[in-house]
Amino acid sequence: MRLLIISDVHGNLEALEAVLAAAPDCDGVANLGDNVGYGACPNEVVERVRTLGDIFVRGNHDRACSGLSNLSDFNPTAALAARWTQLALTDENRRWVAELPRGPVTDATWTGIQFVHGSPFDEDEYLLSEPIVERLLETSPVPVTFFGHTHVQIGWELRHGEISDFRLDRGHRDEPQQMKVTLDPEARYFINPGSVGQPRDGDPRAGFATYDSAERSMTLYRVPYQLEQAQQRIIHAGLPVRLASRLAEGR
Ligand code: ZN
Repeated sequence: MRLLIISDVHGNLEALEAVLAAAPDCDGVANLGDNVGYGACPNEVVERVRTLGDIFVRGNHDRACSGLSNLSDFNPTAALAARWTQLALTDENRRWVAELPRGPVTDATWTGIQFVHGSPFDEDEYLLSEPIVERLLETSPVPVTFFGHTHVQIGWELRHGEISDFRLDRGHRDEPQQMKVTLDPEARYFINPGSVGQPRDGDPRAGFATYDSAERSMTLYRVPYQLEQAQQRIIHAGLPVRLASRLAEGR
């Protein structure tokens, strides 16, 4: 059985469609949150992801854009985009976003895996530093954790007390790329599939991952998408121009 893992779509419909077109056939979809905020297609994205699988975790932008949390923690650009999204979302879509569950989420079909937005203990924590991830790996009761929030595609492995990471080599930005990793049953993993709609690791291509339970393997992917169209939508919507330019930089 194969699972598609997506995260941080952020209202970018073009990136989401490219990911779904490029992904192999899967038996389920896990969505690690931040469906909306920043991008110009919140309703279209929500209506698309709602039909995809049934494993969902909420993100901080899902909370903010559905009115569950205030915008005091957001920088001015993020707050402006969140207010724009609050107004743009239909009542039904806003309600669906507001009802997304807080992580960690587990699913009986996918044993030994947990799904979170930030970290298992704090949905808003950014897992960017190896020492912090190492501590979580050392104490995690779950072999594999998929997380989002940082918009940086990376996997960490703790094996025989040694931590290491894996990520894709920087490929050509106009071409798709993938890397398969066989998961050691003795090891523990924290894996970020990357951001679909607003990557921040210097690679503008949409990121996602798949997990294969029979092979006990996972694959990281990057795919190009119609980035200029997503940028045009942001500019036409009157959202901050920076939200369009950063897509091309992958920042
Ligand atoms: Zn995000």
